[in-house]
Amino acid sequence: INFNKAQFKAAYGLPSQIPAAEAPEVVVCGRSNVGKSSLINKLLGRKALAKVSQKPGKTATINFYDVDGVYLVDLPGYGFAKVGQAERKRWADLIAGYFDQDRSFNLVVCLVDIRHEPQKLDREMVAFLKERELPFVIALTKADKISAQKARNTKLRVAEDLGVDTDDIYVTSSAKGTGIRELQARISEDTLEE
Ligand code: GDP
Repeated sequence: INFNKAQFKAAYGLPSQIPAAEAPEVVVCGRSNVGKSSLINKLLGRKALAKVSQKPGKTATINFYDVDGVYLVDLPGYGFAKVGQAERKRWADLIAGYFDQDRSFNLVVCLVDIRHEPQKLDREMVAFLKERELPFVIALTKADKISAQKARNTKLRVAEDLGVDTDDIYVTSSAKGTGIRELQARISEDTLEE
């Protein structure tokens, strides 16, 4: 994949709005503020294609980007403390509705902040992905905030904790560029046409 050939395609607020799958999809998800927009921008070599720190209260949407013929699907961040019950339900219905569709889910990149133990919502997402047998990797974000040694240890601990192979865990930093090439390589590999 040429990651520089990226453009925004569309945003959907309801699963029924999402058109039938036309391309392999790479899904990116994580708690709000985990660094999802920053990582997407870094992966695509862009400053502000995905919005960094979308204001709370703004309608959560699933955003599609066309990346050289592969669709990068940006799920709305979960776990906003201040979001009400109705918006939470809409979020859950949106995500479940998307994953219930007949699409080609080539890879789900699940983001977890490297500084914190995986939280309840992180665990629920991983459990969901396992249950559905969806191919996924974990990207630990903001690695520049801790030492390299500590990052290596955290990776091992998270692997053990979540029951994920270490080969499927990426230590990343959008600020420093750590792990970006490795994650791009994984995405390319997992979206190759047979
Ligand atoms: P999102 O809500 O998951 O899309 O997260 P954002 O990309 O908007 O980032 C949330 C906050 O974390 C912002 O203040 C970013 O500047 C910061 N951030 C994101 N990635 C990194 C990183 O790799 N290193 C550091 N130090 N800060 C980051």
